[in-house]
Amino acid sequence: MDEFELIQRYFSRLGSARADVVLGVGDDAALLHMPDDADLAASVDTIVAGRHFPEASDPRSIGHRALAVNLSDLAAMGAHPAWALLSLTLPTPSPDWLEGFARGFGELARAHDVMLVGGDTTAGPLTVSVQIMGHVPRGTALRRGGGREGDVLAVTGTIGDAGAGLALVTGALATEDAAAASELRRRFEYPTPRVEFGAAARGLASAAMDLSDGLAGDLPKLAAASGLAAHVDVARLPLSRALTFAAGAQHARDFALGGGDDYELLVAVPPTHFEALGARAAALNLTLTAIGELRRGNSVQWELEGRPYVPAVEGYSHFR
Ligand code: ADP
Ligand code: MG
Repeated sequence: MDEFELIQRYFSRLGSARADVVLGVGDDAALLHMPDDADLAASVDTIVAGRHFPEASDPRSIGHRALAVNLSDLAAMGAHPAWALLSLTLPTPSPDWLEGFARGFGELARAHDVMLVGGDTTAGPLTVSVQIMGHVPRGTALRRGGGREGDVLAVTGTIGDAGAGLALVTGALATEDAAAASELRRRFEYPTPRVEFGAAARGLASAAMDLSDGLAGDLPKLAAASGLAAHVDVARLPLSRALTFAAGAQHARDFALGGGDDYELLVAVPPTHFEALGARAAALNLTLTAIGELRRGNSVQWELEGRPYVPAVEGYSHFR
């Protein structure tokens, strides 16, 4: 199978067919029709075997995650994803691997009405880079720097699950609770980007970002971008039963603060809008949990039972 057959067979019709795609896979570039009065939201994220996922991962999970991490970035902007480009570097093209990968990518793409419109295919160590593009009504995108003093800090869903799921996969964590283990692994292998919630947060939230590197690594970025300090009550972090069962309460908090890959959204929302935003989350079957607030200053303070709390692990950072 050469490069052209491979593209034709697996990537020429992946995701939803979209009317705004004038030209998709096959030419030198895709042609995309932007809606009027919209800003283009564009982002790229690369995942590398052995660094972002174990080399032997299920290819369906790799395809899902490669797109999910990008959808999550657009979710954090409140944007509507539409088009994806896929740059795939792989050692030897095995039909089984490609089928699984295309299935994981394609299922998630269709669920979010995203169409794969082009890409690049090369031989080399397994690396998957996806560029996502979408749109957001002009001037309404959510940014990290929009937070204001007194805003409530809140997160969607539960956090720490994916970090524990990865620890279970690599053997750094073990549990006898098989149901909890499979739930945590699923959270790592098939993260759910909060795209609908991100769009629903426009007009209510003042700032947003997605949690990819752990709250302890990510929250300082939102606080700094907003020019404020953040105060978090660690006892309020939303932890799943599976995580608390598998890791115990103390370690569960460490996973929530330091484990990455959750792809939940962190928002800053004025107290007057918190209830309305919670209702929008509930309408999407999602919990929204207040964990703290933005204050004047320039640091992040963690508190547990009235005392300062030092996160055991910092968020993930390359080259550190
Ligand atoms: P070029 O040499 O002009 O870059 P390529 O041979 O790399 O063209 O790609 C041919 C077509 O297939 C282009 O439209 C490109 O966008 C698309 N393509 C290549 N690899 C992928 C991929 N992994 N997924 C989706 N589309 C791809
Ligand atoms: Mg090319």
